[in-house]
Amino acid sequence: MIPYGRHWIDDDDIKAVVEVLKSDWLTQGPKIDEFEKALAEYCGAKYAVAISNGTAALHLACLAAGIKEKDEVVTTPITFVASANCIVYCGGSPVFADIDMVTYNIDPAEIKSKITPKTQAIIPVHFAGIPCDMEEIKEIAKKHDLIIIEDACHALGAEYQANGEWVKIGSCRHSDMTVFSFHPVKHITTGEGGAILTNNQQLYEKLLLLRTHGITKNAQKFVNKNMAFSNDFGPLRANPWYYEMHALGFNYRLTDIQCALGLSQLNKLDKFVARRRTIASMYSEAFKKIEYVKTPIEPETKKSAYHLYVLQIDFEKIGKSRVRVMTELMEVGIGTQVHYIPVYMQPYYGNERNYNKQRCAVVEQYYGKALSIPLYPKMTDVEVTKVINSVKGCLNV
Ligand SMILES: *Cc1c(COP(=O)(O)O)cnc(C)c1O
Repeated sequence: MIPYGRHWIDDDDIKAVVEVLKSDWLTQGPKIDEFEKALAEYCGAKYAVAISNGTAALHLACLAAGIKEKDEVVTTPITFVASANCIVYCGGSPVFADIDMVTYNIDPAEIKSKITPKTQAIIPVHFAGIPCDMEEIKEIAKKHDLIIIEDACHALGAEYQANGEWVKIGSCRHSDMTVFSFHPVKHITTGEGGAILTNNQQLYEKLLLLRTHGITKNAQKFVNKNMAFSNDFGPLRANPWYYEMHALGFNYRLTDIQCALGLSQLNKLDKFVARRRTIASMYSEAFKKIEYVKTPIEPETKKSAYHLYVLQIDFEKIGKSRVRVMTELMEVGIGTQVHYIPVYMQPYYGNERNYNKQRCAVVEQYYGKALSIPLYPKMTDVEVTKVINSVKGCLNV
């Protein structure tokens, strides 16, 4: 079976994890700091905060951004539900903007049309690994005083050009925070895992606080001085048992076991992305001339991390329904998927929260034709060829 995506774990990854298992720290030890520093350095951001998963990372990013009751946040419907759920966790409302038909990313012009006095933030999602138009989105945010949280769960290792310079996703050059996921189908894995990157020290400190119950052990931040300090030791030497809870936080920590795996995987990220890009170009070469099939377009100013390879297939013209195509491919051992069902069509949003009227024309045109075919770095050339031949055979082309 060739799935649509999967991880790649080697002996050196296993060795790194076993070393931690034999050490003094399973969690809250030195590997977390090491992983955070390596990730921040790779992306070119000042700070990274390791979080238990991508969804929790989005949640904390929204909390740190101050999203609250009655706030609106603009995002895309072509994403995993977590990109919208994080807004609702904070009491806010997602507002869905349409995508552009070239990259399938949120369309900046559509973002503009959705801004109201209640809008507080924008969550662009770098769909399939292609960076959004961050310069334009940043302009909009600046004009309306909005926070930008990049959902970069598809885009670790992606780059875009700004002012003639290549900028890495995660550098937060055009945003306040960037969120990654390390789920096994993503570019690197820690089993479950995620991270938030930022260049803003205030946001960084807020995120650290919220990740661990809202508790601080930093004596300089203590509010209840009488409880914190005793005369025996003088100021700024707190009582040894003492800590303070300053906000309603969570336990959203990542373990040292996971961070060791993340560090080992991060060493291979460039190799993984390069392999993804090679497979994508093999696919594009094979499918580009087929009638009623459209291959992904990578704009010249963007370097996709190719989390997904999404074909747009005119199933009607081909004369075979999507479910038939998926089933036939499944029967020959090839897993495909549809990324994504527009979030506003989910019953929770559509019916319960009344999003049935917030429909997006381009989104629905895209959704009707979308099919993701297998793409992961461990795929062999033989497997890639099998996918190409099977898809062509199935579509009768
Ligand atoms: C995977 C993913 C998430 C959630 O990440 P988890 O680590 O699975 O919680 C959020 N947004 C997008 C776009 C994703 O692909």
